[in-house]
Amino acid sequence: MSSAKTPKPDELIQIRYEPPETPWMDTPVDFRPGTWSYSGTAKNLVILDLPNPRAWQPYDEDWKLPENWKQIILEGMRERLEKYRSFRLFMDICVRCGACADKCHFYIGSGDPKNMPVLRAELLRSVYRRYFTESGKRFGRLAGARDLTVDVLKEWFYYFYQCTECRRCSVFCPYGIDQAEITMMGRELLNLVGCNINWVVEPAANCFRTGNHLGIQPGGIKDMLEFIADDIEDRTGVRVEVPLNKKGAEVLFVAPSGDYFADPGTYTCMGYLMLFHEIGLNYTFSTYASEGGNFGLFMSHEMVKRLNAKIYAEAKRLGVKWILGGECGHMWRVIQQYMDTMNGPADFLAEPVSPITGTRFENARSTKMVHITEFTADLIRSGKLKLDPHRNDHLRITFHDSCNPARAMGLFEEPRYIIRHAARHFYEMPEETIREKTLCCGGGAGLGNDENFEMRMRGGMPRAMAVKHVHEKHGVNRLACICAIDRSTLSSLMDYWVPGVTVMGVHELLANALIMTGEKDRTTDLRGEPLKERTDDETP
Ligand code: SF4
Ligand code: SF4
Repeated sequence: MSSAKTPKPDELIQIRYEPPETPWMDTPVDFRPGTWSYSGTAKNLVILDLPNPRAWQPYDEDWKLPENWKQIILEGMRERLEKYRSFRLFMDICVRCGACADKCHFYIGSGDPKNMPVLRAELLRSVYRRYFTESGKRFGRLAGARDLTVDVLKEWFYYFYQCTECRRCSVFCPYGIDQAEITMMGRELLNLVGCNINWVVEPAANCFRTGNHLGIQPGGIKDMLEFIADDIEDRTGVRVEVPLNKKGAEVLFVAPSGDYFADPGTYTCMGYLMLFHEIGLNYTFSTYASEGGNFGLFMSHEMVKRLNAKIYAEAKRLGVKWILGGECGHMWRVIQQYMDTMNGPADFLAEPVSPITGTRFENARSTKMVHITEFTADLIRSGKLKLDPHRNDHLRITFHDSCNPARAMGLFEEPRYIIRHAARHFYEMPEETIREKTLCCGGGAGLGNDENFEMRMRGGMPRAMAVKHVHEKHGVNRLACICAIDRSTLSSLMDYWVPGVTVMGVHELLANALIMTGEKDRTTDLRGEPLKERTDDETP
């Protein structure tokens, strides 16, 4: 059982970077409590129509694989090598230069060589060579090839579920090998024989049943958004409308469900509602497309496609012109990198144009979906918002570039532009830990669960150390980000490594500063925390 006792930070930071005494192929996987995730339950596999639903756990000796499991995996590998050119390329072209080796946060935090991206890929490549290359078939181990065995499958499971598909390593690879794509293939193959984790299949199954990861029914969504509107009225004196399933609205707004249902995401949701009210946006939430996140990305291409389709089906049903997307992480990787080929083109929607500023979002011409930080930065640049940054004077802020918006979209400037206009105390973390080189929270791609807690803290350690740096140097007490998973996982990470720093969304910060028409004298921020007193020359 994974009844792990998590080491204290001063114990966990004692990392041994020595390789094991045995060669990597002969070093068996150790399912140490605290470092792996529970298996997907049979109930959820049935909902998703996935193969081999059964009761099992990774620590079991017998994984209850189908009799012909090896044939299924090798056939699956052959199909994917033919279908995805990138997969074959990534299996063939690595020159083992080692440039990626020390770039993975899981390697930095664990010292386990199999968490070096080059070796993580080798887990799959060694099998590829054995069955799909002439040299591997003839020379076996001499050519870096090995047989596919149950132990190899267990090793895949352990290490492909210790990769958050963050793509940091690919930034440093001279050949552009994308380890996230390799991990996705590894997970796809594991899924063919029913080896998956519940923290991925349950949110996906919930999405199928109810439209969102948390399995909330439409009535629950309505109630929660109304509660949030009550809180806004309490803080600002302004009552905002919550449009739901409104046919003919101009814009469909899709956010991660974590923003409706869990702190600190709910404060970000307050920010969305306040902003839309203030600018008079004709928009709607949907109870069907009530989830921006797409856990299919952590399972298979087919599942990505199935889950993404509902957003566009709902846009069509409601007759909106275009889609605005909230502060979500992997939703944007799907939209930016896969949407067009999987579900597109969305020709039935219009090229997005801001009804407030007239700005045409040409970058969204094809997907018809605009990121909220692009939308809001444009409002600020066009002088459409009244902001009082002094209201955030009690906060000293740093910004975590969430992996997917950063590396999949290049969305670096817009969130920073908003932060700089909404607050006066903003401090960047060290250059090598931000923008395209940003360090992962350690809990994405379905790994943000409790049984995997030690590995999350290890994987998140490099990010936490960069926050600690600005916490100690500049007194930073707030970590802003634009991803719902980050808001959740970074909160535990900060509690563990950097107590005193809490996490927020960028639109929470914006809404603290937003001067609303008809608002009462604001004495607290959205969390109800008192604002800092102003000196006379700071009074607006
Ligand atoms: S977790 Fe990120 S850095 Fe590590 S191997 Fe996976 S994609 Fe690369
Ligand atoms: S940086 Fe690229 S080529 Fe070099 S070892 Fe890593 S994956 Fe291979």
